[in-house]
Amino acid sequence: MTEKLFLEDAALATVAAQVLASTPDGIVLDRTIFYARSGGQPGDTGILRWERGETVIADTVKGEGETILHLPAPEAVLPPEGAEVTLAIDWERRHRLMRMHTALHLLCSLIPGAAVTGGSIGLDKSRLDFDLPTPPAKDELEALLNARIAEDHPVSHFWVDEAVLDADPGLVRTLSVKPPRGSGRVRLVRIGGGEVPASVPVDMQPCGGTHVSRTGEIGRMLVTKIENKGKQNRRIIIVPAE
Ligand SMILES: [Zn+2]
Repeated sequence: MTEKLFLEDAALATVAAQVLASTPDGIVLDRTIFYARSGGQPGDTGILRWERGETVIADTVKGEGETILHLPAPEAVLPPEGAEVTLAIDWERRHRLMRMHTALHLLCSLIPGAAVTGGSIGLDKSRLDFDLPTPPAKDELEALLNARIAEDHPVSHFWVDEAVLDADPGLVRTLSVKPPRGSGRVRLVRIGGGEVPASVPVDMQPCGGTHVSRTGEIGRMLVTKIENKGKQNRRIIIVPAE
């Protein structure tokens, strides 16, 4: 099993870990800050350094059971099993993905009641698909999105028992990406709403991805396109303004 440090602290850019397994098909560590590709968010890239060398990591994916596979770049030298390594993710890339990811949560909050049927997070553009008969007005949506970003809401997470989700299925907005089940608990990501649990947040949903700590960190976003993808399906595309 790999301890997933990014679940508790997405701002970790470097950390020490131990190599449990090391093959050209993937390196398994006892703990990691590398996010494994899932839920529309790409896997992290970066580098592992040890006493006598370093390995460039080209991608990160989920492995067997609860492990994470760090995929070495072609021809890369592999760290020996048992080695202590220092991990460093490509922080600029990851931070951009976190900005995009958090912006999609805010976008979701601006289309209340519509189920999310798909989504993708990219470095240059990101999208969400909504089950929505009438598309929203693009300019108005962009203005509302940037207003929510500028409000600088805190982004936090907490864990709840799966039974809480069963009692309130409305919490699950994403039909295409079911929250992971089976561990007994689910991670809820909450944007805004102050510190009082009873107050209404801007957005709250199960999510295992990485987010910025405040919405102001996202920066200005543009809604570049609203496409019709099928009778009721609207695809909304956002890109960073700078
Ligand atoms: Zn998320």
